[in-house]
Amino acid sequence: MFILKGIEQLEKAITKAKKIRPRVEFDHFGRYRVSGSKGYYTVICRKDERGYKTVACTCKGAERGLACYHAAAALSLHIGLARQQQAA
Ligand SMILES: [Zn+2]
Repeated sequence: MFILKGIEQLEKAITKAKKIRPRVEFDHFGRYRVSGSKGYYTVICRKDERGYKTVACTCKGAERGLACYHAAAALSLHIGLARQQQAA
């Protein structure tokens, strides 16, 4: 799990996601399934009680607090959906 402070920290992960192009499946708002090397990982994007945006992924990298490409892929969908909700 990591706290999303800015898009800069995701740059590398976004580059990797663009190269690998994982499948992102929508589960419900804030919860996505992303394909990885060993099957699907679950990515959860939420705001914690202090208002921090947190991103959790079930892969090994995210367990160590790294911004993984699964999170980057899920976030690009999540941010788009969040914008739509605000516009509605
Ligand atoms: Zn991951």
